[in-house]
Amino acid sequence: MIADQMNSAHSKILLVDDDPAMLRILSKWLEKAGYEVRQAGDGRQALAAIETECPNFLITDWEMPQIDGLQLCRMVRELNLSHYVYILFLTVKASPAELIEGLEVGADDFLSKPVYQGELLARLRAGSRVLELEHRLSLMARTDPLTGLMTQRSFYEGLEKEWQRSKRFHLPLSCVMLDIDFFKRVNDIHGHPAGDAVLKRVGELLADNCRGSDSVCRYGGEEFCVMLPETSEMDAALWAERVRQRMASMVTPVGQKKIRITGSFGASQSHDDTHTGEELVDQADQALLCAKQSGRDRVVRYESLSDANELDMEKADKYNSLFSGITARRVMTPMVACLRADETVGQASEFFLRSRINSTPVVDSDGKLVGILSEKDLMAAMVSLDWWRTPVREVMKPNVICYEEDVPIQVIYEFLCRVSIRRVVIAKDNRPTGTISQSTLLRWFRNEVINQGLLDSGDIPEALTNNDPHRSRQRLAETAQTLAELATDLHCRLGEDHDDLMPYVVGGATRIEELVNDLLAYSRYANETTATGAAALQSMLASSSSID
Ligand code: GH3
Ligand code: MG
Ligand code: MG
Ligand code: MG
Repeated sequence: MIADQMNSAHSKILLVDDDPAMLRILSKWLEKAGYEVRQAGDGRQALAAIETECPNFLITDWEMPQIDGLQLCRMVRELNLSHYVYILFLTVKASPAELIEGLEVGADDFLSKPVYQGELLARLRAGSRVLELEHRLSLMARTDPLTGLMTQRSFYEGLEKEWQRSKRFHLPLSCVMLDIDFFKRVNDIHGHPAGDAVLKRVGELLADNCRGSDSVCRYGGEEFCVMLPETSEMDAALWAERVRQRMASMVTPVGQKKIRITGSFGASQSHDDTHTGEELVDQADQALLCAKQSGRDRVVRYESLSDANELDMEKADKYNSLFSGITARRVMTPMVACLRADETVGQASEFFLRSRINSTPVVDSDGKLVGILSEKDLMAAMVSLDWWRTPVREVMKPNVICYEEDVPIQVIYEFLCRVSIRRVVIAKDNRPTGTISQSTLLRWFRNEVINQGLLDSGDIPEALTNNDPHRSRQRLAETAQTLAELATDLHCRLGEDHDDLMPYVVGGATRIEELVNDLLAYSRYANETTATGAAALQSMLASSSSID
């Protein structure tokens, strides 16, 4: 049997001997048997040859000048080579002690001189069986059996190489991390085999959407990681967005059922201050975490996180002192009413139109938070009259970003700075009690700055300052006037015979609350009496809005 009939992948031999005649004769036999042979006259030459190309077999003489066979063997075993090298010793020595010494440094087999052709080839065939097994094992360690994708370990090996290349040639290198949303539910509802089928489909989807130079791995469980060489973060995010859309429209048939899933993605690009491939993956992972926290089924770029993190320190200190000790409860707009999951799209539309609000938390019959509904969700449901009767449950977004009332306001501020969503829900024991939107925060911040007298007089809008008491009073009077109109309007409507007054109360009370806050802030720059009046009004309102 010749080498290429066995496994042509295991046919490279490095032959080492200080006797040229020996090298000549053995090479002739081996080449005739189909092996690819390189020669080295001593240990040093052998090491250089291994560095150029790693052989499958190393056949080495024992006694050689400078580096002998034993030392060579020990040194080869210490190298981090791409695959296992089968080492066969040629020896005139054969005492048990010496054989043990050879085995201890890493020899696989021995062949005594004089060498017989048939025995040499038979020992190589035995060695091939070992190499074949080793090859299969390492393939198993590199390939995920379920999806056929790379494992995390081999992904990192490839990443390391690509990392070096990108640094050397100043090329961009990006990474995308993906985690399937609510995958546990797939297992819980449809069973583990169905979950496996979905993971396979996702693996195929990713592989089908990659270029030859990209690498995809199953990072673990239901997480995947993709390396995109010569790609910027922006382009990686565009790629991820395409895959996200395809994933959301993908259907995995399992028996009679069709399973749909979504995924969250984080993208990152290496920069001068990213030091390792692991760091690049970690940054994609941080962006992924933000994608999860901001509602899932979306792509977040790492860069977009650091934009918000780079607030200058002096400013940050000022914010910190403003934020210290303030909880969500102090800042939130209290919840007057919210929708129930079993109400219809039609009822929800009516609620939105009449209360002039554009999104609201949704609760179950126990008042527990189960989702959030926005005008946008209703727009998507407007396509047919059937939808009009659909329960809110089916069109709402089940993933609500929700914080407890006692969460420090700084946490919510930082979150809203980083993400594209505008509003979070505040809850107590999982029952919604309020909301905080970007504009709630902005208004609170503005009023706080004014109330604490943090602005220099030059920074204060003219209308608010004492420099012109007349104008500042005028502003107060206007606000009070608007308040009075709103209150009157609400009062009239309450007197009318409406079947559903709730929307008016929600819209009206929210606006009144905002105006009272404004009034309080402006009052700092008017005289004492007005300030006390506004404070009294606010405490009155606070006590009335806590009656639910
Ligand atoms: P999230 O949106 O926050 O990522 O929620 P999730 O449910 O996807 O995340 P979680 O980490 O809670 O659950 C991951 C699940 O993935 C739990 C585990 O049983 C499942 N899983 C991990 N590996 C496999 C697998 O090989 N096959 C199957 N069927 N399920 C797996
Ligand atoms: Mg010799
Ligand atoms: Mg996960
Ligand atoms: Mg998941």
